[in-house]
This record gives sequence, C-alpha cells and structure tokens, in this order.
Amino acid sequence: MIKSYRTFLDIRRADRPAAEYREPTEQEWDEFQKHFELRKVALGTCGRPYGTPCAHEHACVRCPMLRVDPQQRRLGDRIEEARANGWLGEVQELQISLEAARNKLASLDRLTRNRTPVTLGTPIIPGAY
Ligand code: SF4
Repeated sequence: MIKSYRTFLDIRRADRPAAEYREPTEQEWDEFQKHFELRKVALGTCGRPYGTPCAHEHACVRCPMLRVDPQQRRLGDRIEEARANGWLGEVQELQISLEAARNKLASLDRLTRNRTPVTLGTPIIPGAY
C-alpha cells in the first residue's frame, strides 16, 4: 500500500507544473486557515474540502458533510422557543432537523462505541536507512 501511494505521489508530482511547488504567500496561507474557521456551523463542523463552496445551500443538519458536535443536543429547546413564539413554520422545520440530527447523533454514537485502536506497525521502506 505504501509503495503504491508513493508511486501515486511521484506520478502526481511529475504531472504538476514546477511553478506550483513554492511557499504559499501570506495571503494564501491566511485564506487557507480562515477556511477552517468558516467551516464551523451551528450544529458542528462542515467537512467539505478546502476551496469548495457549499452545494446544499447550508441545509447542514440534513447534509452528509456535517460532523455533529455532541454538545448540540439542545434542538428541542429551540423548538419550544419557536412554539412559544408562535413560529409554527419554524417549529415544523426544526422538527425535521431534529429528526435528522437524532439520526446523525445515533451514527456518531455507533462510531464512538465501535472504535477500537488498530495497530498498523511501523512501515519499513527498503533503502531508507
Ligand atoms: S450544508 Fe453541508 S456542505 Fe453546506 S455548509 Fe452545511 S455541512 Fe457544509
């Protein structure tokens, strides 16, 4: 696997123009770091790749790219607030979101429950020593 990956990297590097191998400018580096700040959304973190726009019009709770923050289990409070204020359209929308959030949290719980460390060992690269 390592050999295949290194071969892939060599091929990719050979394909890319040499001008792309340079230090990023301050502006580029700044923009790169800000991208990660912009991925924080109300219910967690957006996992879309760097430099890509949101393709789902920020319908985060129903988006497969959302990584839910377990602290965000309080959507029920927002539904109660909306109901108390008579925002019935908001109540309906939040209930759909709550159901989607419950499904995401259930999959998050399954992930953390089934997580066991896997020892991969130390790779040996022929000729590296
Ligand atoms: S809808 Fe999906 S891709 Fe768009 S900001 Fe939310 S989590 Fe990211």
